[in-house]
Amino acid sequence: MVFGTGGVPANYKGKFENLFDWFRTLGINGLEIQCDYGFRISEKNQEIIKKEKEHGMFFSIHAPFFVNLGSKNSAVVEKSKKDMKFGIELAQSIGVNRIIFHPGGGHDNTPEGRKIAIKQLIDAVNEFTHEIDMKDVKLYPEIGGKSASLGSLDEIIEICANCEYCYPCIDIAHLHAREIGSIVSKDIMREKLQKVKDSIPEKFNQIHFHAYTINYGEKGELKHLKHGENMPDGRVGMPNLDDFIAVIKEMNIVPWIISEASDTQEIGAKYMHDLYIK
Ligand SMILES: [Zn+2]
Repeated sequence: MVFGTGGVPANYKGKFENLFDWFRTLGINGLEIQCDYGFRISEKNQEIIKKEKEHGMFFSIHAPFFVNLGSKNSAVVEKSKKDMKFGIELAQSIGVNRIIFHPGGGHDNTPEGRKIAIKQLIDAVNEFTHEIDMKDVKLYPEIGGKSASLGSLDEIIEICANCEYCYPCIDIAHLHAREIGSIVSKDIMREKLQKVKDSIPEKFNQIHFHAYTINYGEKGELKHLKHGENMPDGRVGMPNLDDFIAVIKEMNIVPWIISEASDTQEIGAKYMHDLYIK
């Protein structure tokens, strides 16, 4: 089981090499390395990651924001394919086997436009993953936070069903936000995960989660909330993490859960870890 943070938490002020001692004091054991502006990890940090892997830490890599395999612009898609191949080789060189990426977008936000974009993304992924030796690297298309962006639950399922190397990254906060506050109960939380399990059972045991609470508006995601923070209008931040962990346990899912709570990732990760082992 993995409970980790999206990026180095803002509350951590020390050196990267000592971050994992801090994680161990909290009982958390994962870091999603955020390569937001490019697949770049310094050589020094690569060595630290390799060493910490041997000491029980787990790592995933979040692809850069500019990777957009669903773009209407073919030059952007070609560049994204190249970037992903580079990222896969980087991951392999440090023994990381999960790369999370946003499906992106740019085609018309109509059922037809979205269909074209998803088909194009599937073709692109199948092309570059078969050009190189993937070894044990898995790619995780992530649920998008805005309703117009690619990456609805159905679209993520479709991508994973049609791409040998794709597995679902279910960001429960993005899902809640893009569906304008859909996950209002434990039953609905379970329904969403059961749908993934029923649709792509062969991929389900390698599922990856992002879990935290989120502020949203009529177009979806506005802002990740801090752990325990209320919505601006005073309502409790959702989706409910207690329900989420309860469903994870009921469904016997081996958790790999990353908290992206705003500036409080380690608090969110520790909270879910502690709930899980209770
Ligand atoms: Zn993301």
